[in-house]
Amino acid sequence: MYAFEYHRPSTVAEAVSLLQGASDGRFLAGGHTLIPTLKQRLASPSDLVDLGGIEELKGILIDRGSQLRIGAMTPHAEVAASDDVRGWIPALADLAEHIGDAQVRNRGTIGGSIANNDPAADYPAAIVGLNATVHTNQRTIAADDFFTGMFDTALNEGEIITEVRFPKPDKAGYAKFPNPASRYAIVGVMVAQTGDGVRVAVTGAAPCVFRLPEFESALARSFSADAIKGLSVKPSGLNSDIHASAEYRAHLVGVMARRAVAAAR
Ligand SMILES: Cc1cc2nc3c(=O)[nH]c(=O)nc-3n(C[C@H](O)[C@H](O)[C@H](O)COP(=O)(O)OP(=O)(O)OC[C@H]3O[C@@H](n4cnc5c(N)ncnc54)[C@H](O)[C@@H]3O)c2cc1C
Repeated sequence: MYAFEYHRPSTVAEAVSLLQGASDGRFLAGGHTLIPTLKQRLASPSDLVDLGGIEELKGILIDRGSQLRIGAMTPHAEVAASDDVRGWIPALADLAEHIGDAQVRNRGTIGGSIANNDPAADYPAAIVGLNATVHTNQRTIAADDFFTGMFDTALNEGEIITEVRFPKPDKAGYAKFPNPASRYAIVGVMVAQTGDGVRVAVTGAAPCVFRLPEFESALARSFSADAIKGLSVKPSGLNSDIHASAEYRAHLVGVMARRAVAAAR
């Protein structure tokens, strides 16, 4: 038997207060990770606080021409279909378009994805590679400080992600080698060229998203796939499982990075 209280608040303040009043509450976004977790009895929260009725957490906006703002409860399908996203950062729309399948894209949200920080999720590469900021009901968190480990983030207990803000890169590209069943990234690489330099962020390869400083320096000198042709990463510390060995993932990082650069626009 499931035994939890279900709540559907209409404001962020109400959601926070409901969670504070619960003995072991959880926020519910698209439910594509949380519901299977409950079904497998891996979690048994006392309360589920559904964020789906909170209008202030939804939507996409280009703010004063300086940043792209995506509400935490915006589903992947909306990011993929947005002309604003495609015009601002085409690579981000492409990334969202290739998450999971149609059901996953219609229910899964950007806030749920980054709060969950699955090692194979696509969005962490976008947040770090594109140097986004994560906004919560309490503060603003820089991309480099947000993802702290496998399924772990800088979020405090009861802290709600409200939106993610992306500056406009000069160019960006994303390439992933997907798991053929789930489409999660076996390895995914986001590359972005900006006025402040180049950023390269890798997901899927290790327990948590990480940057590649050596690739970034080479691409800052010459933004071309050839500039990183001789570079590689070591397999030690990379994930090894039934889908791919650490050695194979290390190889894929180089291949995906070159494809991401070639695809950058
Ligand atoms: C079959 C399948 C295939 C998938 N394929 C991919 C893929 O290819 N690439 C990929 O990146 N992902 C993939 N996913 C993951 C999916 O895209 C969702 O992003 C993911 O399930 C989490 O988002 P959600 O909105 O469903 O969050 P939920 O499951 O509702 O919540 C996840 C966690 O985040 C917390 N949370 C949710 N919203 C907030 C918030 N605003 N503030 C603070 N905490 C919050 C919840 O409390 C919970 O702990 C797949 C999932 C499935 C089931």
